Amino acid sequence: MTSTHDTNSTPSIAIIGAGLAGVNAALAFHREGWAVDLYSNRTRSELRDEVPATGTAILFGASRTPDRTITTDRYAGTAGDPATEAAAHFTASSVGIAGAPPEASFTAGFTYEAQSVDPRLRADDRLGEFLAETQDGADGTAASRFIVEDVTAESLDAVAAGHDLTFVATGKAGLADIFDTDTDRTPYDSAQRYLLTVTAQGLPADHVFAGRGSTVPGGLLSLHEEGEVFVGPHLHKDGERDTWVILAWARPGTATEEAFRSAVDADTALDVLQDLHHRVFPDVAGDLDSLRPLDSDPHSWLKGAATPRVRRPTARTSGGHLVATLGDTSVAVDPIAGQGAQLGTYQVAALRDGLREALEKDEAWDENLLADLFEAHWDNHAAAGVAVTSLFLGDPEYAEVAQEFFTSSPGDPAAASTLFSLFSDPSPALRLRTAGDVRELVASFREVAA
Ligand SMILES: Cc1cc2nc3c(=O)[nH]c(=O)nc-3n(C[C@H](O)[C@H](O)[C@H](O)COP(=O)(O)OP(=O)(O)OC[C@H]3O[C@@H](n4cnc5c(N)ncnc54)[C@H](O)[C@@H]3O)c2cc1C
Repeated sequence: MTSTHDTNSTPSIAIIGAGLAGVNAALAFHREGWAVDLYSNRTRSELRDEVPATGTAILFGASRTPDRTITTDRYAGTAGDPATEAAAHFTASSVGIAGAPPEASFTAGFTYEAQSVDPRLRADDRLGEFLAETQDGADGTAASRFIVEDVTAESLDAVAAGHDLTFVATGKAGLADIFDTDTDRTPYDSAQRYLLTVTAQGLPADHVFAGRGSTVPGGLLSLHEEGEVFVGPHLHKDGERDTWVILAWARPGTATEEAFRSAVDADTALDVLQDLHHRVFPDVAGDLDSLRPLDSDPHSWLKGAATPRVRRPTARTSGGHLVATLGDTSVAVDPIAGQGAQLGTYQVAALRDGLREALEKDEAWDENLLADLFEAHWDNHAAAGVAVTSLFLGDPEYAEVAQEFFTSSPGDPAAASTLFSLFSDPSPALRLRTAGDVRELVASFREVAA
């Protein structure tokens, strides 16, 4: 059975799940003039205010381009408006390694501007645009709908039967397991880290971590034997001032993991992370002591483990109807290299363009098209996103590469910038295997920068 549409009628698409990927797709597809039904197991206000954010969802540079094709960047900021301008953006990160001498620390300047916006805010703003444009076909385009319904494997069959195309964007859980795992592309069969994250308030967005030898504002990346920590400015959904996210990883079976598991709310999560800094990163511990939990948001923290998974792009419902993956349901990676939301953004933009092109050529929206579009997404972005995640997880395959980056960066700003360019454009990670590969990449980076 293929999912084709009558070329004379408005194409219809169902999207299950109103996280960032689902909402982005709903807005992008609706703006093509297609009738979109966006199904969510939560109301709009629940999505924004009654759950923790799925993650930090920083867009590191390059992915901001496809994001701007979905809708206007409303966080780019107005000069002089710190709530939108500085709070959401940073362009450098200071790196420290526990136990190493201060000379081993370095600050990497980015060749891009990272945008760190609470995904609950980004998704809610876009859901607001979707709703405004879909009220009774207000803008004259197809009637689209936001439907609050917990879609089950059984009801999915009826949904898929009633639409030309159905995307499952229920994140790492929900209906994701109706899609088979692609074991060749899935790098690990278990979570590589236990995570603890909290958004807190109290340091200005332009804070400089002088204890790490930095002279410019930016974030922190800190490595120790039992895990890693990222600290960076973050625009919280409620527009609170001076907000920062602390995002920490613990290797399984360590005392750090045990400490992370002990957190029960934002206060205890922040305590655990401040204590970790006093123990292993005293150079910046005093700065982090200025942070306090956000009174406005009891959901400003999260703990747990993310099992990586690349899923087959399509599946069939019990009645044989075609459904396709989107967002974390498609490719779920550990957040250590900040790839998940970026991949979802690229995927939505490419699906929109690919589906439009198929319509123009009068080609069916069928399994073959969806498989081709996923292969292109894998080749263009997802394979590299998976690879760079392995690199930052310290995978043995990248041991020489990581060693070369971290030893050359303190004395070579170009090496430091090249390392951080991988968050924005991870494609070199696919071919980096040796110290020589790293030196070559840094040399070409230096040439481009000159
Ligand atoms: C700690 C952490 C930090 C991260 N940092 C970054 C980063 O810096 N950069 C980056 O690019 N990515 C990052 N990520 C990844 C990023 O947050 C995710 O990739 C992205 O938010 C996933 O969006 P999604 O819409 O695919 O899934 P989700 O956000 O999980 O949305 C799924 C939605 O589906 C709904 N749903 C579930 N089941 C059903 C059902 N049966 N019926 C209807 N609705 C249903 C859920 O309620 C939810 O609203 C991070 C992740 C974590 C965990």
